Amino acid sequence: MKYAVLATWKMALEGTRKAAALLKEGEHSGRAIVEGITMVEDEPSFHSVGFGGRPNAEGRVFLDGGYMDGDTLHFGAVGSIENFRSAVRIAYSLQEGDANNFLVGEGAERYAEEHGFEKRDNVTEEAMELYMKEKDRLQELSAYDGHDTVCFLALDQNGTLCAATSTSGLFMKQPGRVGDTPLPGVGYYADSKVGAAAATGMGEEIMKGALSYAAIRMMKDGMSAQEAAETAVFELDRELKERNGHANPMSLIVLAKDGSCGIGTNVSFTWCYASDTEEAAVHEITLP
Ligand code: ASP
Repeated sequence: MKYAVLATWKMALEGTRKAAALLKEGEHSGRAIVEGITMVEDEPSFHSVGFGGRPNAEGRVFLDGGYMDGDTLHFGAVGSIENFRSAVRIAYSLQEGDANNFLVGEGAERYAEEHGFEKRDNVTEEAMELYMKEKDRLQELSAYDGHDTVCFLALDQNGTLCAATSTSGLFMKQPGRVGDTPLPGVGYYADSKVGAAAATGMGEEIMKGALSYAAIRMMKDGMSAQEAAETAVFELDRELKERNGHANPMSLIVLAKDGSCGIGTNVSFTWCYASDTEEAAVHEITLP
């Protein structure tokens, strides 16, 4: 395959199409997926990312995002930032240099402001209505009520693999909570010699197995993208059930350096894929 793009959830379809068009023109995989994710961040009808994202326990929207370049292994990330248009664009810009690549909270916001990143109040009327309706039921809400992360992986025509992520995290999360999404090795990982991986689902579970790096490690040891995605998720799912009696939802997408893809999930899940031989389309796994 000359190029390929793989993304989490059906909300990524238009972004996948856009990223694939850029890859076709010869664009770098990192720049192509940042464009794809920004489209998802800008769409208020997607309720778990960027504009219109799910509010935290105080009715405010805080964003996490990450980016990794599989050639250099450089990454950039932001955690718990408020009032900016695109977490992934800020994360992308932080990949330069050997230090200060992962910024959170006030420091990340100051950096974004100083570097001219676009500001935006991400709390929409619809998100606020939902918050007002649910805020007194906080104790009853299950950990998985109303969240999803947009993750994009891409292979470009030069053989570079990149990964990027963006989310508003768990609905009604505690102020200061950061999920797996900005954590390299956990929410995403990319190594152009092997493959790229990214996760969505309950961040605290995904952290327990460093899921993205786990899959890439398995591919280094010879597994295909599909074997690695399934093995990483099912092993962690089994360990968590053995130790804690249950495992929360988690899904993993994996793209190999040959453009083939793999999906591992313990819940029903949708994803988007496009390549030089396949039009962008939504795919689905339905579990009971
Ligand atoms: N992984 C995200 C988080 O825990 C949420 C999600 O992907 O559904 O913040």
